[in-house]
Amino acid sequence: YDDRDGRIWMDGKLIEWRDAQVHVLTHALHYASSVFEGERAYNGKIFKSVAHSERLRRSAELIDFEVPYSVQEIEDAKTAVLEANGLTDAYVRVLAWRGSGEDMGVASARNPVRMAVAAWEWGAYYGDAKMNGAKLAISKWKRPSPETIPSAAKAAGLYMICTMSKHDAEAKGCSDAMMLDYRGYVAEATGANIFFVKDGEVHTPKADCFLNGLTRQTVIAMLKEKGITVHERHIEPAELEGFEQCWLTGTAAEVTPVGQIGDYQFEVGALTRDVATSYEALVRA
Ligand code: PMP
Repeated sequence: YDDRDGRIWMDGKLIEWRDAQVHVLTHALHYASSVFEGERAYNGKIFKSVAHSERLRRSAELIDFEVPYSVQEIEDAKTAVLEANGLTDAYVRVLAWRGSGEDMGVASARNPVRMAVAAWEWGAYYGDAKMNGAKLAISKWKRPSPETIPSAAKAAGLYMICTMSKHDAEAKGCSDAMMLDYRGYVAEATGANIFFVKDGEVHTPKADCFLNGLTRQTVIAMLKEKGITVHERHIEPAELEGFEQCWLTGTAAEVTPVGQIGDYQFEVGALTRDVATSYEALVRA
């Protein structure tokens, strides 16, 4: 996977994919001083590209460093990567991190901030689940309080919980995990936000301790335009019993129906299909 053809943008230049390497004393590797974005290009254009670049800079500020590139420079880097690799429909990964340097300990202010952009073809994130409904396990790991970690940042440190939850779910034969938050409310999946349907209305966890995804915001706006009531609120796990439909939203996941969470079953219903189709049309418009 490392030793392949392709071009990656790193610290201001396009270089060979196989040469995009870092030193083993990279601060981010030891202390998670890293933020990133996951974006998708459709027909040659990245959906909400500027919003992603802005979020990258904001995530870095939340964990105490500044991305040394402006939003426009990040935009240009992404365009250069798509062009250099001849990609029109692709997943785009932008990463900014504290490199190696004088600071070998926890502090990192003296180490340079670095940035890279890579892109590759990546189909449906949940494979067949896109049609039939993903199966989720309920994780034992909880999303932390915003007083424990800046949970609005798309920062590497927050993903340790996600990786462990997803490994555990996969070992149980599920596609992903649904995590609860530190209070025990329903939070999100490991790389996507979650929505439920009951009696024609939509319920989604209030994004007060996890990423308020750009796809989540897009889908909420879309539902409101369709005249559907959306409740952003705290959801108890016991409420899963009463929900009829469920789907996940995320840049990689797009809109993916959920068929099962733990012992609770959901139908891939008309509203779920409608939202998935409308989202697909919007990103390609
Ligand atoms: N939550 C987590 C933990 C994620 O990794 C993602 C994907 N970035 C999301 C939610 C959804 O965010 P977005 O819609 O902006 O991709």
